[in-house]
Amino acid sequence: MDMTESIIGDLVKKEYITIIAGPCAIESWEQLDNTARVVSSLGLSYLRGGAFKPRTSPYSFQGLEEKGLEFLKKAGEKYGLGTVTEVTDTVNADIVAEYADVLQIGTRNMSNFALLKRVGEIAFLKKKAVILKRGWASTIKEWLLASEYLTLKGDVEVILCERGIRTFDTNTRFTLDLSAVPVIRKMSKLPIIIDPSHAMGQSDLVTPMSRAAIAVGADGLIVETHNDPVKALCDGQQSLDPREMTELLKQIKSLASVIGKKVR
Ligand code: PEP
Ligand code: MN
Repeated sequence: MDMTESIIGDLVKKEYITIIAGPCAIESWEQLDNTARVVSSLGLSYLRGGAFKPRTSPYSFQGLEEKGLEFLKKAGEKYGLGTVTEVTDTVNADIVAEYADVLQIGTRNMSNFALLKRVGEIAFLKKKAVILKRGWASTIKEWLLASEYLTLKGDVEVILCERGIRTFDTNTRFTLDLSAVPVIRKMSKLPIIIDPSHAMGQSDLVTPMSRAAIAVGADGLIVETHNDPVKALCDGQQSLDPREMTELLKQIKSLASVIGKKVR
């Protein structure tokens, strides 16, 4: 069997650049509805939004949990968008899979092997795709080995996501390791997308690194966007407003046409 065919499913397709967009956290129905409307009006296919938030500080907003998942499903159905959200714990894995199309494993959990095994099982049984973010202090080899935990029970559509690694520099939130894209191409058949939002931590740096990601051959992007970033409860400083998101898309579309791809 051609491995590429068996791994690449619906989320990432070779002829497309897939852009997943949405707020860091689902905060209310109004916020998600307004943001999803923009994502859909731009012709994109996937809406992101965190319901269980793995916050560094226990005093930060932790997410709306199941209520957030309900809003995500409702917004996905209303606008015809696939839904992407993070699974933070084996305890909430089943419930997340009841609501969302794509299960995200965050950077803080890349080495949580019990979670990877459980999410792999659920993804296999329920035919969900899984986005595996790179741990911010993990090597590419460790990341690829982590991805294999997801497929222990059977074939699962796994998408790698480079979201920045920790270096000595403090001008950006993390350092976006775009060299991961060509290295992954050499080592693996798995698709790879880029998260410029968490890597850069500042909205004005998201678009240039998105362009670079596409130029280096990434299969897509996951970008934080919010209808009103100033009021965001989480990661507003790195979230694109509707005007910035529209501009990002315009630029990515023109780049995509150069490399013979469509954007969705
Ligand atoms: C996120 O995408 O919501 C998130 C928490 O990202 P990361 O795991 O990359 O920090
Ligand atoms: Mn975020």
